[in-house]
Order: sequence, then C-alpha cells, then structure tokens
Amino acid sequence: MKVLIADDDQISRMITKAAVEQSGHECIVAVDGDSAWQLYKEHSPEAVVTDLMMPGLNGLDLCRAIRAAEEDSYTYIILVTSHGSRKDVLAGMEAGADDYVTKPLDPFSLHIRLLAAQRITSLHADLARYRSALTEQARTDPLTKLHNRLKLSEDLGNLHRNDHDYCLAMVDVDNFKSYNDIYGHQAGDAALVAIATSLAGAVRKSDAVYRFGGEEFLLVLGEQSTASAGAVMERVRSAVAALRIEHSGDPDGILTISAGVSAFTDGHRAGTEQLLREADLALYAAKASGRNRVTLASALPHGSD
Ligand code: GH3
Ligand code: MG
Ligand code: MG
Repeated sequence: MKVLIADDDQISRMITKAAVEQSGHECIVAVDGDSAWQLYKEHSPEAVVTDLMMPGLNGLDLCRAIRAAEEDSYTYIILVTSHGSRKDVLAGMEAGADDYVTKPLDPFSLHIRLLAAQRITSLHADLARYRSALTEQARTDPLTKLHNRLKLSEDLGNLHRNDHDYCLAMVDVDNFKSYNDIYGHQAGDAALVAIATSLAGAVRKSDAVYRFGGEEFLLVLGEQSTASAGAVMERVRSAVAALRIEHSGDPDGILTISAGVSAFTDGHRAGTEQLLREADLALYAAKASGRNRVTLASALPHGSD
C-alpha cells in the first residue's frame, strides 16, 4: 500500500515512517496538515497515518477533507493521538478516521492496523470495479453490445448542454418481421448483430450508435449539418446493403435499412424529444416512400430546419 504519514514532529515522523516501512509499505511523508492534504491529492494513498495536533490543517480537518473528496476509492485513516483521551479519539472517529494508535507508537499496533487497512481498501477497490462494470452493463444492449436507450438519454442530455450542432438518425430494419418469419428468430438475432456492427463501423469514432429498440437503432452524428449527415447516412445505408444478407421477403432480396435524420443546428435548437420525433417522422416517410432510403426531416412538407 501507499501510506501517507502526517506529523509535525520530526521524531514522531521518523518513528512512524520506520514502522510503516517495516510493515512493507511505501511511505509518503508530510510535515503538516496542509502539505499532507496536497500530497494526498497528488498521490491518492490507500492509507493515511496522521497526527491529531498539527499547525494549519489539523488531523480532524484532514480526515474531513479526505472523506469529502473521496469518490470511488476509500482511504483508511489511522489517527496517532498523544494522550489517547476518549474525547480526542471520539472526535477523530466522528471526523472520519477508521482507527487510532497512541503515542509512543508501538510498531506492532500499527502493523496490525495496516493489515486491516489493506483488507478494507482492497474490498472498496473491488466494489468500485463492480460498480463501474454494473454501470456499463446497465447501459449496454446484451445482443449487439451497442449502448442502449438509457445511455442515449444520458448522452443526449450532455450533448444538449454543450450546445454544439449534431444530427440524429433513426434507423429501422426493413421488413424484419418477415425476415424472422422466414429465417427464424435466431437468424434474426444474428442479422441484428451484423447490422449493428456495420452501423458502428460506418461512422466516425466520435459518433455514437445505440440500439433504440427491437430492430431500431439511433445514431448521433456530432458536428454535422443536415446535408452532411444525410451523406453519412447514405454511406451507412450502403454499408448495410453491402452485407448482402439474403431476405427473400424483401423486394431487393436482401436486408436493408431506412433512416430518418433530424438536426440540432443554428435556427433549429429543438429539444431532444422534439428531435427524436422529427427523426421518427422522417423515418416513417422513408418507409412510406419505398424503404431502403434516407429521408431528412428538413425535406418533409412541415420540416422544421
Ligand atoms: P418495416 O419495414 O415497416 O420496418 O417492417 P418490419 O417488419 O421491420 O416492422 P415491424 O415493426 O412490424 O417488425 C419488427 C420486427 O422486429 C418484429 C420483431 O419480432 C422483430 N424484432 C425486434 N427485436 C428483435 C430481436 O431482438 N431479435 C429478433 N430476431 N427480432 C426482433
Ligand atoms: Mg420497427
Ligand atoms: Mg422494421
């Protein structure tokens, strides 16, 4: 473990440092509370062994500052108290300390506390990993591995706050119900995976592709005008057609997609719900006019951008 020691007394510092190193840990040493706080932010130690009385930031302030700053990690804090008075210990534990040792420091007492520190911080690190894996899992579609609608709504919220231009493309697989009917649900799943991969491969890294629902996908194309997004989607449409997934129930004989594009641009700073609605209307128009095509919301009779 990386252990930060904070003590304004030189002799105490040396004794604590020797004990921590003897326990096999890496040491960072601070001569007062303020520098301890700086070193803490710089090195993110797993454990802190701190004196209670120090000029500037004292041990209690340091505990509080650490607890307030922690996000996913956990720092195990051990107080070193001169008198070991119950009042001091209670105040320290209330300020966020996990344990305490009394001066003069007994290296064995510190050693066993650092063993506990190691166990607790490693449990917290496991928890943080599980938490981030779960966060990602909740935002990922298990079939296509694309991000799902929950992630989309979070990302759209952020995009909107940035106020940059972007386009939304709502994509729907053509005649997919009959594909399932003819080739079976498993083949349908495999086709969705192939189409998802093709969509993701056809756009820029900075663009994002989401599985919106069953056989519907949503693309967020950053920094695009309606015209350039239309061109991108034309490329995406061709990429899916180029997969040449046989579909005897489709007039083209292969699986194709239709897309509707809406834009968040100067003169049309619409809300995300409105933009999704516009992309959906454009998609509906693409379907109505024959499928396997891209329609811009701005080209509709009541297009709003
Ligand atoms: P259109 O060209 O108008 O879009 O016709 P469509 O047949 O694609 O539209 P419809 O909405 O009637 O059918 C969508 C089909 O997509 C029905 C549903 O069974 C299928 N589907 C949705 N999600 C999945 C999935 O995860 N796996 C498979 N295999 N099929 C799915
Ligand atoms: Mg559909
Ligand atoms: Mg469909």
